Amino acid sequence: MAFAVTALLLFACFSAGAPAARAEPFRCNRVEALVEAPTPEMRETTCNAIGAAVNAWASCDVSTSEAITVRVVPSARHPQYGECLGYYDSRNQCLEVADPASYADLINEEDARRELAAETVFRGIVAHEFAHALVASESGEHAIRPADHEFIAAVFEMESYGETARARLLAADPVKPQGSRGLVNLGIYAMAPRVFANNAWQLFQSEQDGCALIRAILRGEASLATR
Ligand SMILES: [Zn+2]
Repeated sequence: MAFAVTALLLFACFSAGAPAARAEPFRCNRVEALVEAPTPEMRETTCNAIGAAVNAWASCDVSTSEAITVRVVPSARHPQYGECLGYYDSRNQCLEVADPASYADLINEEDARRELAAETVFRGIVAHEFAHALVASESGEHAIRPADHEFIAAVFEMESYGETARARLLAADPVKPQGSRGLVNLGIYAMAPRVFANNAWQLFQSEQDGCALIRAILRGEASLATR
């Protein structure tokens, strides 16, 4: 399906690596999610990251009843693009996120997230992929354009970083303070993913009601995608 291919293009994926180890699923206490992670601490961190993502969406008056499974693996393996930081598979509602211990290898040198704490980046990846999951489950029959998918995922990723970390990312890859709709396309996303994300955040912020825009995209009544 087109969405499964295009919307899961999260971050640059690299060449193939070792297969991921599996751990027993753990049911989070405060949020509807199953987590597979290598340590109890990582399970807790993951449940907290999902909880924060759910709350961010709730603040936009969007919720989901669909349970999600999150796997923390040495490096996520996209079926088509290979090793990467994370991806969401809409076929089985499963989200894979790379373990923070792998970030030094997985995040390329131009990516300003290298300067952030690994746990902060982890939270951002969960927020990003959870947004893809939620858009997939809550947009019903509406075909959400891939660039809109990535726009929404970027907004929630940037939201998750908090003000200080976000300011560092915005300073590293500056965009117009009001953002530019012309940059909401897959070409920018592929060539300059941090510019795409920063621009998404600034556009969202410059809207009178950014949440209303996101809900309109979910209903198939709005689109920012230029291609
Ligand atoms: Zn994405």
